[in-house]
Amino acid sequence: AHLDRIAEVDGAVHAFLHVDAEGALAAAAASDARRAAGTPASYLDGVPIAVKDVLATTGLPTTCGSKILEGWIPPYDATVVAKLKAAGLPILGKTNMDEFAMGSSTEHSAYGPTRNPWDLDRIPGGSGGGSAAALAAFEAPLALGTDTGGSIRQPGAVTGTVGVKPTYGAVSRYGLVAMANSLDQVGPVTRTVLDSALLQELIGGHDPLDSTSIAEPLPSLVDAARQGAGGDLSGVKVGVIRELSGEGYQAGVLERFSESVDLLVAAGAEVVEVSCPNFVHALATYYLIMPCEVSSNLAKFDAMRYGLRVMPAGIDSPSAEEVMRASRDAGFGDEVKRRIILGTYALSSGYYDAYYGTAQRVRTLITRDFAAAFEQVDVLVSPTAPTTAFKLGEKLDDPLAMYLNDLATIPANLAGVPGISLPAGLASDDGLPVGFQILAPVMADDRLYRVGAALE
Ligand code: GLN
Repeated sequence: AHLDRIAEVDGAVHAFLHVDAEGALAAAAASDARRAAGTPASYLDGVPIAVKDVLATTGLPTTCGSKILEGWIPPYDATVVAKLKAAGLPILGKTNMDEFAMGSSTEHSAYGPTRNPWDLDRIPGGSGGGSAAALAAFEAPLALGTDTGGSIRQPGAVTGTVGVKPTYGAVSRYGLVAMANSLDQVGPVTRTVLDSALLQELIGGHDPLDSTSIAEPLPSLVDAARQGAGGDLSGVKVGVIRELSGEGYQAGVLERFSESVDLLVAAGAEVVEVSCPNFVHALATYYLIMPCEVSSNLAKFDAMRYGLRVMPAGIDSPSAEEVMRASRDAGFGDEVKRRIILGTYALSSGYYDAYYGTAQRVRTLITRDFAAAFEQVDVLVSPTAPTTAFKLGEKLDDPLAMYLNDLATIPANLAGVPGISLPAGLASDDGLPVGFQILAPVMADDRLYRVGAALE
């Protein structure tokens, strides 16, 4: 049914870069046999899933939305993909994304944009717009995303779906093509909070192949979602982040946000306002640390090891460096080049301490703001994104306007704390979906699910 739906609507939505009908049907048949025998591999055995094209999948293309990886077929599975397969989930295909996960609209994909199923002239968010749009268009019941500065949560917000960025280290990054290692995290993209809990429990846990993976198990997420679904939040203390809910937000977004806060109060939660003064520096901090890590990570795309190799024109016997230059010039898009140059500059001798070093110190201040806030409250809340889905092309020529979308999602990545975005209804000014963000302390992902399920 999902493959039929993809055939029907994906021409217009373009959520997928690659559909693996054959593989998905074979996995579904194997699952049917296990279920018939009464021996399902997991509680999600047979439930199909779409995977963001930044996660390595044996035998399936993995392009990261970039020309430079066109034609690359990984010889191994990301740990999360291996877990999906072991649990019997048929993989429908690979979803579209901004090139190397850099962007907030999926317009930076080298393979053309994904469109928002709510309005095909609008963006589905980014970088994981493909996964979110696949859910919103009912092309898949579950998907995986990755979130470095909001790429799971912001697409969730603008497509009316649920997205979770787990605690940093709670889900393995092995086989995730790194954008910025200290910020990247794999997480669920679903239509309900309980679905996300089921999926995070399945993909999470310690992985010896990822040195940043946390050894201790998280509290049960499914139990927390079930508890929250009862709608009782008495005893829960919620903090509204002052710095993330006023100026710069669309009126229709703020309206739905305060309505969700009222629902928390009605469910018995105690709501207070909390100040996180250093969050105003989060965007600037992120846009230094992230490009530094990007410039280092993307050095490996040298036309020798993976994907595209372009021979420079007019040179008879080009040197390796000339081939690298021609390949990187042709293979990377403008946004990727912009960030490599920014990062290389910020890391260069004489600037390293002023830029990277200062940004790391501010990152610590932001982490301390979270710690202080979580001494007062159990969870923090804000709108997920400052606006609803904007029009395709609207911010493409203005990188700074594009970056502003990540205002509310970035602090969580800098501090490694978990966050969820869930639908908060439609904005009254434009009728488009609004996202409500909940943040919890490191390792307390269960609180996202309890509070999120109570709002659903
Ligand atoms: N939109 C942000 C960026 O462009 C976040 C991307 C992400 O989370 N991968 O960097």
